[in-house]
Amino acid sequence: MQNLVAMNGDPVTNQNSRRLAKADPRQRAWLEVSPMAVEANARALRSVIGEQCLLMAVVKADGYGHGAVTVAKAALRGGADNLGVATLHEGIELRKAGMDCPILILGNLIDEKELEACFCWEIMPTLSTMREILICKRIVSNYRRNFSVQIKLNTGMTRLGCEVKEALNLIKFVDSVPYLDLQGVYSHLAWADGDKKRKSFDQSLLLTKKQQQSFNSFLRSLSSRRKNLCCHLANSAGTLRTSELHYDMVRIGLALYGYSPIEDSNFEVALQPALSVKARVTLVRDVEAGIGVSYGHNFVTKRKSRLAVVGIGYADGLSRALSGRISALFKGSFLPQVGSITMDQLVLDVTDQSDIQVGSVVTLLGEDRGKRISPQDWSDLLGSIPWEILCGFKNRLPRLLV
Ligand SMILES: *Cc1c(COP(=O)(O)O)cnc(C)c1O
Repeated sequence: MQNLVAMNGDPVTNQNSRRLAKADPRQRAWLEVSPMAVEANARALRSVIGEQCLLMAVVKADGYGHGAVTVAKAALRGGADNLGVATLHEGIELRKAGMDCPILILGNLIDEKELEACFCWEIMPTLSTMREILICKRIVSNYRRNFSVQIKLNTGMTRLGCEVKEALNLIKFVDSVPYLDLQGVYSHLAWADGDKKRKSFDQSLLLTKKQQQSFNSFLRSLSSRRKNLCCHLANSAGTLRTSELHYDMVRIGLALYGYSPIEDSNFEVALQPALSVKARVTLVRDVEAGIGVSYGHNFVTKRKSRLAVVGIGYADGLSRALSGRISALFKGSFLPQVGSITMDQLVLDVTDQSDIQVGSVVTLLGEDRGKRISPQDWSDLLGSIPWEILCGFKNRLPRLLV
């Protein structure tokens, strides 16, 4: 090992070099997350759904990349009363952080160990088949304590959920098992985020209508039997489309983070994006015309240029497929990204922005002096959706709360 000397003159031992490395999370690239924006979004959505309807904040995939515990707390402050996650571990993380509201796992748990852990942490599983219900029956007959569960119906998504015609039998069976406590029944919309500008828009409305009708007919057949079940159907798009889809609870993901999945909402709701992605310029260089940049020389300068290297890359969640197609914001102007995005770095053409220097902070996603780059801008380029962009930020970028 080299003999390193710290800034105060002490030799750098492993201990104090670690302390130095931790000193500033804004060394290279980072996420800025605004819990206040999440809280305000929850409050705005609450006013859309009214007092009678419950609000589930969906914080799966580490809170859509924002940090699950941070956004869960903010959403609860803003009036959410339930949390939704995809996996057992995501649920346990929230319980360990001290959250004691109802938590529903939206994914499927398949074996007794998982469902038993779910029971012990008082997290609700989603049950779709008799197979899972029988496992839960075994668990409660051992413990002799209440196990809250929810049943899912397939009304057209064709993913999880039992068929509507089986649902009453499953519910009857769950009701016959002592300690098995059915709290809710729900289904999921497959295409509530249809785009008004597309030809397929009418199709998406039709499918949502069909799902709604199928859910309603199930509820009618249920009503004489069970009055106190929490019945829910809507995601963000369904919630913002029409109050007919709200039922007893709505499950909100994307809108909680500040983005509307539909452009033609019936509700006036001002959502604030809660996430920015920022990074620092680590090197500036001047080059002649005709110089190739980055792997494969996919970009060649057309003029004498100034280039800035920025410390963020595809390992941080900036898909390589965005290479040469995005910009970064600096002092309200867009700086084109050029050449291939690499694992840890990318290059900007800053020829027209003379203020850029080593250490300058640029915004890859988010707002700067009234200009904004949104996840939708990236997902449009990628033929993807904003959800996937947000979930792409997970491993390496530190999150700062602002
Ligand atoms: C992820 C998820 C949601 C939230 O969806 P958004 O479109 O992000 O609001 C709701 N319900 C279920 C079952 C989900 O899996």
